[in-house]
Amino acid sequence: MPSCTLCGEKAVMSSSYLQAYLCREHFIKYFEKRVKLTINILGLIRPGERVAVAVSGGKDSLTALYLLSKFSKDMEYEVFGLAIDEGIKGYSDLRIKCLKDHARNIGVELHIVSFKEFFGASLDEIVKLLKEKGFEYKPCSVCGVFRRYIMNKFARELKADKLATGHNLDDEIQVFLMNAIRGAIPNIVREGAITEYSTHKKMVPRIKPLYFIPEKESLIYSKLVGLNVFLEAKCPYVIHSMRHPVRRWLNKMEWERPLTKYRIIATKEVIASMLGKVETKRSIGTCEVCGEPSSTAICKACFYKNYLFGK
Ligand code: AMP
Ligand code: ZN
Ligand code: ZN
Repeated sequence: MPSCTLCGEKAVMSSSYLQAYLCREHFIKYFEKRVKLTINILGLIRPGERVAVAVSGGKDSLTALYLLSKFSKDMEYEVFGLAIDEGIKGYSDLRIKCLKDHARNIGVELHIVSFKEFFGASLDEIVKLLKEKGFEYKPCSVCGVFRRYIMNKFARELKADKLATGHNLDDEIQVFLMNAIRGAIPNIVREGAITEYSTHKKMVPRIKPLYFIPEKESLIYSKLVGLNVFLEAKCPYVIHSMRHPVRRWLNKMEWERPLTKYRIIATKEVIASMLGKVETKRSIGTCEVCGEPSSTAICKACFYKNYLFGK
């Protein structure tokens, strides 16, 4: 690797879109400054707020927890971690252990909620039930619905004003392109660095501090600052979706034409803001069964609970 474009020290990364090489110190400064600017310019967090960070143990959410905690004193807000233990043997258990170590190292309070405690069954048990019923619904769909349900409910009960996730630039562009491929225009308007559901008081606004951070840079940063990233195993239930070809295509385009990713996210922001003027915010009602926010009479979590356990 050549030397840093700014100071001549040994470079740790090259950025094709900046047309520069950066050393450890300059890369860390540049990375942290962008996350801070995202929070400040987009008003993701206000002084005095309490922020829950949804941490899975992967590089992105660990980086989000680490940085939100690092900035919290100067920016005068509180932060805590919230982890969901889905109950996948040989996967969730190892991940949760890793997370506990990380939270302890950086001195942040961590709350853990498990599917088993909350729904009465681990994901391993849920997958068995889905199998008996002929996999009418995919494990990832049920897991995603249950996870988002718990995250919102517990973030709210733990008095969080915001719920932060580790979604990075690549995640956001992949979702945008998938929405475009499906023609799901309302989703394009709704998704952003801050997703506010002001129409329901039980919905905690979600924020994405790594919205402008490319995946590759989040990986480099997490290694450079020595975060205890969980890499050992992949979720055994993951199903290869449309996201994988989109991801490959996007990385190829970025390699051939540096800045592609930033051009796409800029295009997305312009489209979303123009459409936002005509598209009103989705009005969210209340689930008749559990009282949580829902766009249908019975929320998806209650639907799956009834389907799986008949209650
Ligand atoms: P994914 O849907 O796996 O791409 O994850 C997106 C974001 O959701 C992560 O960056 C985390 O902030 C959050 N997340 C995913 N899985 C969990 C989990 N088991 N516990 C807490 N947060 C999670
Ligand atoms: Zn340098
Ligand atoms: Zn419900």
